[in-house]
Amino acid sequence: MSPERGHPPAIQPIRCAAIANLGCKVNQSEMDGVERLLHARGVELVDPHGDVRPDLVVVNTCTVTAIADRKSRQAIRRARRANPNARIVITGCAVSVDPEAMAAADPLALLFDNEAKSRLEAELASLLDLAEGQPMPTHSGVEPAERGAEAAEPTAGARAFELEDDESIEGAGEDGFTEAAGIDRTRAFVKIQDGCSFHCTYCIIPRARGPERSVPAGEVLAEVRRALAGGHREIVLTGINAGTYDDAGLRLPGLVARILGETPVERIRLSSIEPQHLGDELLAVWAGSGGRCLPHFHVPLQSADDAILRRMGRRYDAAAYRELVGRVRRAIPGVAIHADVIVGFPGEDEAAWGATATLLRELSLAGVHVFRYSARPGTPAARMVGQVDGRTKKRRAADALALAADLRAAFVRAQLGREVRVLFERQLPDGRWIGHAESHALVAVAPPDGEPLENAIGLVRAESIDHPAADRLTGRLLAVDRVNRPMADRPPK
Ligand code: SF4
Repeated sequence: MSPERGHPPAIQPIRCAAIANLGCKVNQSEMDGVERLLHARGVELVDPHGDVRPDLVVVNTCTVTAIADRKSRQAIRRARRANPNARIVITGCAVSVDPEAMAAADPLALLFDNEAKSRLEAELASLLDLAEGQPMPTHSGVEPAERGAEAAEPTAGARAFELEDDESIEGAGEDGFTEAAGIDRTRAFVKIQDGCSFHCTYCIIPRARGPERSVPAGEVLAEVRRALAGGHREIVLTGINAGTYDDAGLRLPGLVARILGETPVERIRLSSIEPQHLGDELLAVWAGSGGRCLPHFHVPLQSADDAILRRMGRRYDAAAYRELVGRVRRAIPGVAIHADVIVGFPGEDEAAWGATATLLRELSLAGVHVFRYSARPGTPAARMVGQVDGRTKKRRAADALALAADLRAAFVRAQLGREVRVLFERQLPDGRWIGHAESHALVAVAPPDGEPLENAIGLVRAESIDHPAADRLTGRLLAVDRVNRPMADRPPK
Protein backbone atom coordinates (compact mmCIF):
# COMPACT_ATOMS: atom_id res chain seq x y z
CA MET A 1 0.00 0.00 0.00
CA SER A 2 1.57 3.25 -1.03
CA PRO A 3 0.96 6.15 1.34
CA GLU A 4 -0.08 8.43 -1.48
CA ARG A 5 -2.81 6.03 -2.52
CA GLY A 6 -3.80 5.35 1.05
CA HIS A 7 -5.23 7.46 3.79
CA PRO A 8 -4.89 11.04 4.73
CA PRO A 9 -1.27 11.61 5.85
CA ALA A 10 -2.01 12.37 9.48
CA ILE A 11 -3.25 9.60 11.73
CA GLN A 12 -6.08 10.11 14.18
CA PRO A 13 -6.21 7.79 17.17
CA ILE A 14 -8.53 4.80 16.84
CA ARG A 15 -11.06 4.84 19.65
CA CYS A 16 -13.83 2.83 18.12
CA ALA A 17 -13.97 0.32 15.31
CA ALA A 18 -16.47 -1.75 13.40
CA ILE A 19 -16.18 -5.08 11.63
CA ALA A 20 -18.30 -5.85 8.59
CA ASN A 21 -17.88 -9.57 8.25
CA LEU A 22 -19.07 -11.16 5.03
CA GLY A 23 -16.50 -13.93 5.11
CA CYS A 24 -17.05 -17.62 5.54
CA LYS A 25 -16.54 -19.70 8.63
CA VAL A 26 -12.92 -20.29 7.67
CA ASN A 27 -12.25 -16.61 8.15
CA GLN A 28 -14.23 -16.36 11.36
CA SER A 29 -11.28 -17.27 13.58
CA GLU A 30 -9.25 -14.46 12.01
CA MET A 31 -12.02 -11.96 12.61
CA ASP A 32 -12.28 -13.26 16.18
CA GLY A 33 -8.56 -12.46 16.51
CA VAL A 34 -9.13 -8.94 15.21
CA GLU A 35 -11.97 -8.48 17.70
CA ARG A 36 -9.78 -9.68 20.56
CA LEU A 37 -6.98 -7.36 19.54
CA LEU A 38 -9.28 -4.35 19.40
CA HIS A 39 -10.88 -5.32 22.69
CA ALA A 40 -7.49 -5.76 24.38
CA ARG A 41 -6.43 -2.32 23.16
CA GLY A 42 -9.52 -0.74 24.64
CA VAL A 43 -11.02 0.05 21.25
CA GLU A 44 -14.78 0.12 21.45
CA LEU A 45 -16.46 -2.15 18.93
CA VAL A 46 -19.53 -0.63 17.37
CA ASP A 47 -22.15 -1.75 14.91
CA PRO A 48 -21.01 -0.94 11.36
CA HIS A 49 -24.54 0.28 10.64
CA GLY A 50 -25.09 2.04 13.95
CA ASP A 51 -25.12 5.69 14.95
CA VAL A 52 -21.57 5.81 16.32
CA ARG A 53 -19.01 6.63 13.64
CA PRO A 54 -16.03 4.24 13.91
CA ASP A 55 -12.45 5.41 13.33
CA LEU A 56 -11.61 2.07 11.77
CA VAL A 57 -13.73 -0.34 9.73
CA VAL A 58 -12.51 -3.84 8.86
CA VAL A 59 -14.41 -5.37 5.94
CA ASN A 60 -13.91 -9.11 5.59
CA THR A 61 -14.98 -9.97 2.05
CA CYS A 62 -16.13 -13.18 0.41
CA THR A 63 -16.08 -14.18 -3.24
CA VAL A 64 -17.59 -17.63 -3.22
CA THR A 65 -20.80 -16.51 -4.90
CA ALA A 66 -21.95 -13.67 -7.09
CA ILE A 67 -24.07 -12.44 -4.21
CA ALA A 68 -21.05 -12.52 -1.91
CA ASP A 69 -19.00 -10.49 -4.41
CA ARG A 70 -21.71 -7.88 -4.70
CA LYS A 71 -22.32 -7.67 -0.98
CA SER A 72 -18.59 -7.24 -0.39
CA ARG A 73 -18.39 -4.27 -2.74
CA GLN A 74 -21.56 -2.79 -1.28
CA ALA A 75 -20.24 -3.15 2.26
CA ILE A 76 -17.04 -1.33 1.34
CA ARG A 77 -18.90 1.53 -0.35
CA ARG A 78 -21.37 1.77 2.50
CA ALA A 79 -18.58 1.87 5.05
CA ARG A 80 -16.84 4.72 3.21
CA ARG A 81 -20.05 6.68 2.67
CA ALA A 82 -20.98 6.44 6.32
CA ASN A 83 -17.44 7.07 7.61
CA PRO A 84 -15.62 9.42 5.23
CA ASN A 85 -12.70 9.95 7.62
CA ALA A 86 -12.29 6.38 8.88
CA ARG A 87 -9.47 4.06 8.04
CA ILE A 88 -10.95 1.15 6.14
CA VAL A 89 -9.19 -2.20 5.93
CA ILE A 90 -10.40 -4.74 3.37
CA THR A 91 -9.43 -8.36 3.63
CA GLY A 92 -10.74 -11.79 2.62
CA CYS A 93 -11.06 -13.84 -0.54
CA ALA A 94 -12.50 -11.13 -2.77
CA VAL A 95 -9.26 -9.18 -2.32
CA SER A 96 -7.25 -12.17 -3.52
CA VAL A 97 -9.42 -12.82 -6.54
CA ASP A 98 -10.34 -9.33 -7.66
CA PRO A 99 -8.26 -6.69 -5.89
CA GLU A 100 -9.06 -4.05 -8.52
CA ALA A 101 -12.77 -4.30 -7.91
CA MET A 102 -12.28 -4.08 -4.14
CA ALA A 103 -9.87 -1.16 -4.47
CA ALA A 104 -12.28 0.59 -6.84
CA ALA A 105 -14.99 0.34 -4.21
CA ASP A 106 -12.81 2.46 -1.93
CA PRO A 107 -9.53 3.80 -3.35
CA LEU A 108 -8.45 4.94 0.13
CA ALA A 109 -8.71 1.55 1.79
CA LEU A 110 -5.89 -0.72 2.87
CA LEU A 111 -6.11 -4.13 1.23
CA PHE A 112 -4.85 -7.45 2.59
CA ASP A 113 -5.20 -10.52 0.43
CA ASN A 114 -5.18 -13.99 1.98
CA GLU A 115 -1.40 -14.30 1.76
CA ALA A 116 -0.97 -11.06 3.66
CA LYS A 117 -3.76 -11.87 6.10
CA SER A 118 -1.49 -13.72 8.50
CA ARG A 119 0.02 -10.31 9.14
CA LEU A 120 -3.31 -8.55 9.45
CA GLU A 121 -3.37 -8.53 13.24
CA ALA A 122 0.22 -7.33 13.44
CA GLU A 123 -0.49 -4.57 10.94
CA LEU A 124 -3.59 -3.51 12.83
CA ALA A 125 -1.62 -3.54 16.06
CA SER A 126 0.97 -1.22 14.56
CA LEU A 127 -1.82 1.01 13.31
CA LEU A 128 -3.24 1.19 16.83
CA ASP A 129 0.22 1.98 18.20
CA LEU A 130 0.63 5.03 16.03
CA ALA A 131 0.70 8.29 17.85
CA GLU A 132 -1.62 11.01 16.75
CA GLY A 133 -0.23 13.02 13.86
CA GLN A 134 2.29 10.40 12.70
CA PRO A 135 2.43 9.79 8.97
CA MET A 136 0.63 6.83 7.56
CA PRO A 137 2.93 3.80 7.36
CA THR A 138 3.42 1.62 4.33
CA HIS A 139 1.50 -1.56 4.87
CA SER A 140 2.13 -4.95 3.43
CA GLY A 141 -0.75 -6.47 1.55
CA VAL A 142 -2.17 -6.18 -1.87
CA GLU A 143 -1.25 -3.29 -4.03
CA PRO A 144 -3.58 -3.52 -6.96
CA ALA A 145 -1.74 -1.11 -9.21
CA GLU A 146 1.41 -3.20 -8.94
CA ARG A 147 -0.04 -6.65 -9.17
CA GLY A 148 1.05 -9.02 -11.90
CA ALA A 149 -0.85 -10.29 -14.86
CA GLU A 150 -2.92 -12.78 -12.93
CA ALA A 151 -4.32 -10.24 -10.56
CA ALA A 152 -4.78 -7.75 -13.35
CA GLU A 153 -6.93 -10.15 -15.30
CA PRO A 154 -10.39 -8.63 -15.21
CA THR A 155 -12.60 -10.66 -12.97
CA ALA A 156 -15.13 -8.00 -12.10
CA GLY A 157 -18.49 -9.49 -12.74
CA ALA A 158 -16.98 -12.95 -12.73
CA ARG A 159 -19.27 -15.51 -11.25
CA ALA A 160 -18.65 -19.04 -10.01
CA PHE A 161 -22.16 -19.80 -8.92
CA GLU A 162 -24.87 -18.01 -7.08
CA LEU A 163 -26.27 -19.02 -3.78
CA GLU A 164 -30.01 -19.08 -4.03
CA ASP A 165 -31.97 -17.30 -1.41
CA ASP A 166 -29.15 -17.68 1.08
CA GLU A 167 -31.10 -16.12 3.91
CA SER A 168 -33.62 -18.92 3.75
CA ILE A 169 -31.19 -21.73 4.06
CA GLU A 170 -30.80 -21.93 7.77
CA GLY A 171 -34.32 -21.02 8.63
CA ALA A 172 -34.51 -17.30 8.96
CA GLY A 173 -37.80 -16.51 10.57
CA GLU A 174 -39.88 -13.41 10.36
CA ASP A 175 -38.11 -12.23 13.47
CA GLY A 176 -34.95 -12.00 11.39
CA PHE A 177 -32.95 -14.64 13.18
CA THR A 178 -30.54 -16.10 10.70
CA GLU A 179 -27.58 -18.40 10.92
CA ALA A 180 -25.22 -15.54 10.26
CA ALA A 181 -26.83 -13.32 12.85
CA GLY A 182 -26.37 -15.48 15.89
CA ILE A 183 -23.54 -17.71 15.08
CA ASP A 184 -20.51 -16.10 16.63
CA ARG A 185 -21.66 -15.32 20.14
CA THR A 186 -21.46 -18.78 21.60
CA ARG A 187 -19.62 -20.87 19.06
CA ALA A 188 -15.94 -20.47 18.31
CA PHE A 189 -14.64 -21.10 14.82
CA VAL A 190 -11.23 -22.68 14.87
CA LYS A 191 -9.44 -22.86 11.56
CA ILE A 192 -7.55 -26.09 11.10
CA GLN A 193 -6.74 -25.85 7.42
CA ASP A 194 -6.70 -23.44 4.51
CA GLY A 195 -6.47 -23.71 0.74
CA CYS A 196 -7.41 -26.36 -1.77
CA SER A 197 -5.80 -27.90 -4.83
CA PHE A 198 -8.72 -30.04 -5.97
CA HIS A 199 -9.55 -27.58 -8.75
CA CYS A 200 -13.19 -28.40 -9.23
CA THR A 201 -13.88 -26.90 -12.63
CA TYR A 202 -16.36 -24.27 -11.41
CA CYS A 203 -14.41 -23.09 -8.38
CA ILE A 204 -12.23 -20.02 -7.97
CA ILE A 205 -11.23 -20.90 -4.40
CA PRO A 206 -7.91 -22.65 -5.24
CA ARG A 207 -6.82 -19.45 -6.92
CA ALA A 208 -8.10 -17.29 -4.09
CA ARG A 209 -6.55 -19.28 -1.27
CA GLY A 210 -3.76 -21.39 -2.79
CA PRO A 211 -2.95 -25.05 -2.07
CA GLU A 212 -3.76 -26.91 1.15
CA ARG A 213 -1.96 -25.95 4.35
CA SER A 214 -2.75 -27.48 7.73
CA VAL A 215 -2.56 -25.56 10.98
CA PRO A 216 -0.15 -27.44 13.31
CA ALA A 217 -2.06 -29.52 15.86
CA GLY A 218 -0.42 -27.67 18.76
CA GLU A 219 -1.78 -24.39 17.45
CA VAL A 220 -5.24 -25.87 16.93
CA LEU A 221 -5.26 -27.20 20.49
CA ALA A 222 -4.08 -23.87 21.85
CA GLU A 223 -6.83 -22.09 19.95
CA VAL A 224 -9.46 -24.54 21.22
CA ARG A 225 -8.27 -24.07 24.81
CA ARG A 226 -8.30 -20.32 24.39
CA ALA A 227 -11.85 -20.41 23.04
CA LEU A 228 -13.01 -22.65 25.89
CA ALA A 229 -11.31 -20.44 28.47
CA GLY A 230 -13.14 -17.53 26.88
CA GLY A 231 -16.46 -19.24 27.57
CA HIS A 232 -17.30 -20.75 24.20
CA ARG A 233 -19.16 -24.02 24.54
CA GLU A 234 -19.08 -25.20 20.96
CA ILE A 235 -16.08 -25.44 18.67
CA VAL A 236 -16.61 -25.45 14.91
CA LEU A 237 -13.57 -26.79 13.10
CA THR A 238 -13.26 -24.96 9.81
CA GLY A 239 -11.22 -25.37 6.67
CA ILE A 240 -11.59 -24.83 2.96
CA ASN A 241 -11.01 -28.56 2.49
CA ALA A 242 -10.79 -29.79 6.09
CA GLY A 243 -10.60 -33.45 5.14
CA THR A 244 -7.13 -32.91 3.70
CA TYR A 245 -5.82 -32.04 7.17
CA ASP A 246 -2.32 -33.45 7.58
CA ASP A 247 0.11 -32.26 10.22
CA ALA A 248 3.17 -34.48 9.81
CA GLY A 249 0.97 -37.53 9.38
CA LEU A 250 -1.68 -36.54 11.91
CA ARG A 251 -4.89 -36.58 9.90
CA LEU A 252 -8.31 -35.19 10.76
CA PRO A 253 -9.50 -38.20 12.86
CA GLY A 254 -6.32 -37.99 14.94
CA LEU A 255 -6.68 -34.24 15.37
CA VAL A 256 -10.27 -34.58 16.59
CA ALA A 257 -9.21 -37.39 18.95
CA ARG A 258 -6.50 -35.16 20.40
CA ILE A 259 -8.95 -32.29 20.91
CA LEU A 260 -11.33 -34.67 22.69
CA GLY A 261 -8.58 -36.19 24.81
CA GLU A 262 -6.69 -33.05 25.69
CA THR A 263 -9.41 -30.45 26.19
CA PRO A 264 -12.75 -30.37 28.03
CA VAL A 265 -14.61 -29.32 24.86
CA GLU A 266 -18.36 -29.98 25.15
CA ARG A 267 -19.45 -29.77 21.53
CA ILE A 268 -17.49 -30.13 18.28
CA ARG A 269 -18.82 -29.62 14.77
CA LEU A 270 -17.12 -29.74 11.40
CA SER A 271 -18.05 -26.87 9.12
CA SER A 272 -17.99 -29.06 6.01
CA ILE A 273 -16.26 -32.14 4.66
CA GLU A 274 -15.90 -33.58 1.16
CA PRO A 275 -17.62 -36.96 0.70
CA GLN A 276 -14.41 -38.87 0.08
CA HIS A 277 -12.96 -37.67 3.38
CA LEU A 278 -15.77 -38.86 5.63
CA GLY A 279 -14.18 -42.24 6.24
CA ASP A 280 -14.69 -44.95 8.84
CA GLU A 281 -11.86 -43.70 11.03
CA LEU A 282 -13.41 -40.25 11.40
CA LEU A 283 -16.85 -41.78 11.97
CA ALA A 284 -15.39 -44.01 14.70
CA VAL A 285 -13.92 -41.00 16.49
CA TRP A 286 -17.24 -39.18 16.12
CA ALA A 287 -19.33 -42.11 17.33
CA GLY A 288 -16.98 -42.79 20.25
CA SER A 289 -16.92 -39.21 21.51
CA GLY A 290 -19.75 -39.69 24.00
CA GLY A 291 -21.87 -37.13 22.20
CA ARG A 292 -19.24 -34.40 22.26
CA CYS A 293 -18.87 -34.59 18.48
CA LEU A 294 -22.27 -33.44 17.28
CA PRO A 295 -24.40 -35.62 14.99
CA HIS A 296 -24.33 -33.26 12.06
CA PHE A 297 -22.27 -33.20 8.86
CA HIS A 298 -22.29 -30.86 5.90
CA VAL A 299 -21.26 -32.94 2.88
CA PRO A 300 -21.35 -31.26 -0.56
CA LEU A 301 -23.12 -33.31 -3.25
CA GLN A 302 -23.33 -30.73 -6.10
CA SER A 303 -25.02 -33.16 -8.53
CA ALA A 304 -26.23 -36.73 -8.60
CA ASP A 305 -25.54 -37.16 -12.31
CA ASP A 306 -22.22 -38.93 -12.76
CA ALA A 307 -21.39 -37.24 -16.06
CA ILE A 308 -21.94 -33.83 -14.48
CA LEU A 309 -19.86 -34.80 -11.47
CA ARG A 310 -17.02 -35.77 -13.82
CA ARG A 311 -17.31 -32.47 -15.67
CA MET A 312 -17.24 -30.67 -12.33
CA GLY A 313 -14.03 -32.50 -11.46
CA ARG A 314 -15.59 -34.01 -8.37
CA ARG A 315 -13.98 -37.14 -6.98
CA TYR A 316 -16.98 -39.37 -6.27
CA ASP A 317 -20.10 -40.56 -8.02
CA ALA A 318 -23.74 -40.63 -6.97
CA ALA A 319 -23.54 -44.25 -5.82
CA ALA A 320 -20.61 -43.42 -3.54
CA TYR A 321 -22.55 -40.50 -2.02
CA ARG A 322 -25.60 -42.72 -1.46
CA GLU A 323 -23.44 -45.39 0.16
CA LEU A 324 -21.76 -42.75 2.33
CA VAL A 325 -25.06 -41.43 3.67
CA GLY A 326 -26.06 -44.96 4.66
CA ARG A 327 -22.72 -45.59 6.33
CA VAL A 328 -22.84 -42.32 8.28
CA ARG A 329 -26.38 -43.07 9.47
CA ARG A 330 -25.41 -46.56 10.63
CA ALA A 331 -22.43 -45.18 12.54
CA ILE A 332 -24.29 -42.22 14.08
CA PRO A 333 -28.05 -42.84 14.40
CA GLY A 334 -30.12 -39.69 14.04
CA VAL A 335 -27.32 -37.80 12.32
CA ALA A 336 -28.29 -34.72 10.31
CA ILE A 337 -26.70 -34.52 6.89
CA HIS A 338 -26.75 -31.29 4.91
CA ALA A 339 -25.61 -31.02 1.30
CA ASP A 340 -24.77 -28.40 -1.31
CA VAL A 341 -26.10 -28.71 -4.84
CA ILE A 342 -25.29 -26.64 -7.91
CA VAL A 343 -28.05 -26.37 -10.49
CA GLY A 344 -27.52 -25.43 -14.12
CA PHE A 345 -23.93 -26.60 -14.49
CA PRO A 346 -22.89 -26.81 -18.17
CA GLY A 347 -24.32 -29.97 -19.71
CA GLU A 348 -26.98 -30.44 -17.05
CA ASP A 349 -30.10 -31.51 -18.95
CA GLU A 350 -33.52 -32.31 -17.48
CA ALA A 351 -32.50 -35.92 -16.87
CA ALA A 352 -29.37 -34.87 -14.97
CA TRP A 353 -31.25 -32.36 -12.84
CA GLY A 354 -33.96 -34.97 -12.29
CA ALA A 355 -31.36 -37.42 -11.01
CA THR A 356 -30.17 -34.85 -8.46
CA ALA A 357 -33.70 -34.07 -7.29
CA THR A 358 -34.49 -37.77 -7.03
CA LEU A 359 -31.42 -38.54 -4.93
CA LEU A 360 -32.09 -35.60 -2.61
CA ARG A 361 -35.61 -36.91 -2.00
CA GLU A 362 -34.45 -40.49 -1.63
CA LEU A 363 -31.81 -39.60 0.96
CA SER A 364 -34.14 -37.38 3.03
CA LEU A 365 -31.31 -35.03 3.87
CA ALA A 366 -31.75 -32.57 6.72
CA GLY A 367 -31.00 -29.56 4.55
CA VAL A 368 -29.70 -28.52 1.16
CA HIS A 369 -27.85 -25.35 0.21
CA VAL A 370 -28.79 -24.48 -3.35
CA PHE A 371 -26.38 -22.78 -5.73
CA ARG A 372 -27.21 -21.60 -9.22
CA TYR A 373 -24.27 -21.95 -11.57
CA SER A 374 -23.04 -19.00 -13.57
CA ALA A 375 -19.75 -18.93 -15.43
CA ARG A 376 -16.79 -17.31 -13.73
CA PRO A 377 -14.01 -16.38 -16.15
CA GLY A 378 -10.77 -18.12 -15.30
CA THR A 379 -12.42 -21.41 -14.43
CA PRO A 380 -12.54 -24.36 -16.87
CA ALA A 381 -16.32 -24.65 -16.59
CA ALA A 382 -16.75 -21.15 -18.01
CA ARG A 383 -15.36 -22.41 -21.33
CA MET A 384 -17.42 -25.59 -21.44
CA VAL A 385 -20.01 -26.20 -24.11
CA GLY A 386 -23.57 -26.80 -23.00
CA GLN A 387 -24.08 -23.69 -20.86
CA VAL A 388 -27.62 -23.76 -19.49
CA ASP A 389 -29.82 -20.76 -20.21
CA GLY A 390 -30.74 -18.44 -17.37
CA ARG A 391 -34.45 -19.17 -17.38
CA THR A 392 -33.85 -22.91 -17.02
CA LYS A 393 -31.33 -22.35 -14.23
CA LYS A 394 -33.78 -20.17 -12.34
CA ARG A 395 -36.54 -22.72 -12.71
CA ARG A 396 -34.34 -25.55 -11.45
CA ALA A 397 -33.09 -23.39 -8.61
CA ALA A 398 -36.67 -22.61 -7.60
CA ASP A 399 -37.51 -26.32 -7.71
CA ALA A 400 -34.40 -27.13 -5.68
CA LEU A 401 -35.27 -24.49 -3.07
CA ALA A 402 -38.79 -25.86 -2.72
CA LEU A 403 -37.39 -29.35 -2.32
CA ALA A 404 -34.84 -28.12 0.22
CA ALA A 405 -37.60 -26.44 2.24
CA ASP A 406 -39.61 -29.67 2.24
CA LEU A 407 -36.60 -31.66 3.40
CA ARG A 408 -35.81 -29.23 6.22
CA ALA A 409 -39.40 -29.20 7.39
CA ALA A 410 -39.61 -33.00 7.29
CA PHE A 411 -36.38 -33.35 9.26
CA VAL A 412 -37.60 -30.96 11.92
CA ARG A 413 -41.04 -32.65 12.10
CA ALA A 414 -39.32 -35.96 12.75
CA GLN A 415 -37.83 -34.49 15.93
CA LEU A 416 -41.18 -33.63 17.49
CA GLY A 417 -41.58 -35.31 20.85
CA ARG A 418 -37.84 -35.84 21.27
CA GLU A 419 -35.51 -34.28 23.80
CA VAL A 420 -32.83 -32.17 22.18
CA ARG A 421 -29.92 -30.28 23.67
CA VAL A 422 -29.77 -26.68 22.51
CA LEU A 423 -26.96 -24.16 22.84
CA PHE A 424 -28.84 -20.90 23.18
CA GLU A 425 -27.44 -18.02 21.23
CA ARG A 426 -29.69 -15.01 21.33
CA GLN A 427 -33.03 -13.59 22.33
CA LEU A 428 -35.79 -13.07 19.80
CA PRO A 429 -37.79 -9.84 19.78
CA ASP A 430 -40.69 -11.77 21.37
CA GLY A 431 -38.53 -12.58 24.42
CA ARG A 432 -37.89 -16.22 23.63
CA TRP A 433 -34.39 -17.62 23.31
CA ILE A 434 -33.16 -19.47 20.26
CA GLY A 435 -30.24 -21.69 19.47
CA HIS A 436 -29.08 -24.74 17.59
CA ALA A 437 -29.75 -28.30 18.65
CA GLU A 438 -27.03 -30.88 18.21
CA SER A 439 -28.56 -31.70 14.81
CA HIS A 440 -28.23 -28.01 13.89
CA ALA A 441 -32.02 -27.55 13.90
CA LEU A 442 -33.12 -24.20 15.28
CA VAL A 443 -35.12 -24.35 18.50
CA ALA A 444 -36.85 -21.49 20.32
CA VAL A 445 -38.07 -21.60 23.95
CA ALA A 446 -39.48 -19.28 26.56
CA PRO A 447 -37.08 -18.91 29.50
CA PRO A 448 -38.80 -20.28 32.62
CA ASP A 449 -37.61 -17.60 34.99
CA GLY A 450 -36.94 -14.70 32.70
CA GLU A 451 -33.22 -15.22 33.16
CA PRO A 452 -31.04 -14.85 30.06
CA LEU A 453 -30.16 -18.11 28.38
CA GLU A 454 -27.25 -16.92 26.29
CA ASN A 455 -24.57 -19.58 26.20
CA ALA A 456 -26.63 -21.95 28.32
CA ILE A 457 -27.21 -25.48 27.09
CA GLY A 458 -30.81 -26.47 27.58
CA LEU A 459 -32.52 -29.81 27.43
CA VAL A 460 -35.69 -29.15 25.46
CA ARG A 461 -38.65 -31.36 24.67
CA ALA A 462 -39.55 -30.45 21.09
CA GLU A 463 -43.32 -29.97 21.14
CA SER A 464 -44.32 -28.10 18.00
CA ILE A 465 -43.28 -26.42 14.81
CA ASP A 466 -42.60 -22.74 15.40
CA HIS A 467 -45.17 -21.37 12.99
CA PRO A 468 -44.65 -19.68 10.53
CA ALA A 469 -41.08 -21.01 10.36
CA ALA A 470 -41.74 -24.54 9.12
CA ASP A 471 -38.17 -25.58 9.79
CA ARG A 472 -37.92 -24.38 13.39
CA LEU A 473 -38.93 -26.11 16.57
CA THR A 474 -40.33 -24.76 19.77
CA GLY A 475 -40.65 -26.66 22.98
CA ARG A 476 -40.45 -26.89 26.74
CA LEU A 477 -37.24 -26.31 28.61
CA LEU A 478 -36.67 -29.32 30.88
CA ALA A 479 -33.28 -28.44 32.31
CA VAL A 480 -30.66 -25.74 31.91
CA ASP A 481 -26.93 -26.06 32.21
CA ARG A 482 -25.74 -22.56 32.96
CA VAL A 483 -22.46 -23.76 34.33
CA ASN A 484 -20.32 -21.98 31.88
CA ARG A 485 -17.14 -20.12 32.11
CA PRO A 486 -17.57 -16.39 31.80
CA MET A 487 -16.94 -15.27 28.28
CA ALA A 488 -14.00 -13.37 29.65
CA ASP A 489 -12.09 -12.37 26.59
CA ARG A 490 -15.03 -12.20 24.27
CA PRO A 491 -15.32 -8.66 23.04
CA PRO A 492 -18.54 -7.00 24.03
CA LYS A 493 -21.17 -6.99 21.28
S1 SF4 B 1 -12.96 -29.02 -3.13
FE1 SF4 B 1 -13.57 -28.14 -5.09
S2 SF4 B 1 -15.29 -26.77 -4.57
FE2 SF4 B 1 -14.20 -27.21 -2.66
S3 SF4 B 1 -12.71 -25.50 -2.45
FE3 SF4 B 1 -11.64 -27.20 -3.46
S4 SF4 B 1 -11.87 -26.75 -5.65
FE4 SF4 B 1 -13.42 -25.52 -4.60
